[in-house]
Amino acid sequence: MTSATHASLSFEIFPPNTQVGEEKLLATLAQLGDLAPDFISVTCSNNKRNIKETTLKVAGYIKNQLGVPTIAHLPAAYLTHSQVKEILRALDQLGIHQVLALRGDILPDVPPTNDFRYASDLVAFINQQAPHFAVSGACYPEVHPESPDRVTDIKNLKFKTDQGLEHLITQLFFDNDCFYQFQENCQLADINVPIIAGIMPIINRKQALRLIQTSEAKLPRKFLAILDKYEHNPVALRDAGLAYAVDQIVDLVTQDVAGIHLYTMNNAATARHIYQATASLFGKPAQGNQQLIQLG
Ligand code: FAD
Repeated sequence: MTSATHASLSFEIFPPNTQVGEEKLLATLAQLGDLAPDFISVTCSNNKRNIKETTLKVAGYIKNQLGVPTIAHLPAAYLTHSQVKEILRALDQLGIHQVLALRGDILPDVPPTNDFRYASDLVAFINQQAPHFAVSGACYPEVHPESPDRVTDIKNLKFKTDQGLEHLITQLFFDNDCFYQFQENCQLADINVPIIAGIMPIINRKQALRLIQTSEAKLPRKFLAILDKYEHNPVALRDAGLAYAVDQIVDLVTQDVAGIHLYTMNNAATARHIYQATASLFGKPAQGNQQLIQLG
């Protein structure tokens, strides 16, 4: 994922629920594609079983219409072996050979199929059935919420990585020191694949409140001060939230992170802002491809 000298820059998007959402997403993707990211990953909900009509459709568009590499998220807790084989065949037909192998969240009152109890089962299965796929996995700098402790979590991550992961993408975090500590723990555990840092810019009050109520991530004092001071000033909150994310990214890239994965929440303006503020750090042109084409 990482070039010899630069960290990678990639985006996460989610498939929309409605027709209007689909049209909006095409406009968003066109703008994201112009930034020539190293890849765009497409999430997949455990709630929705029609992965072909959601994640695969969007990922196919990104790969084949925009010409941008894509990673399809694949949560497998509710899938059987034969369903995963069918999905891999469908991905093959689309020319997509990158998957983020996940267990996914367990839904209350819906028992999982148990063909893939943990993501590591899926990683091993894909590598056995379709070794031409590059498989990535999720990781949690602040420990997965179900894990009894940090050591157990890292041991499980080591096992998952050893099933054949090419790289890891982290859960979002707001405190870079948590990430650096996690990286060090991975090194000690002999987990040597690149770790891509997941960053989510907080740009509005709704997002901020949800974060405070539900997130397991540590919220540093500096970050909480922004949310507190600009809670009722949407423009200032957006500006300060973007600046905070840029500050995190500058620090991470300066400290040689393998890559930055932006949780875009399907907001192209956010991604473009971050891109314009940091493009040179990733060895990318300041205005993205569009400007190059216009100048060219
Ligand atoms: P696992 O790696 O299986 O880990 C789950 C828990 O089981 C952890 O506590 C782990 O320590 C423990 N564990 C692992 N192996 C063992 C073992 N052998 N024995 C005992 N315990 C074990 N969810 C979605 O539904 N759709 C998405 O598109 C999506 N995208 C994501 C993208 C990223 C980058 C990240 C970080 C998360 C994403 N998630 C997504 C959320 C993820 O599915 C949940 O966090 C889920 O609870 C765990 O999935 P996992 O693949 O990390 O599970």
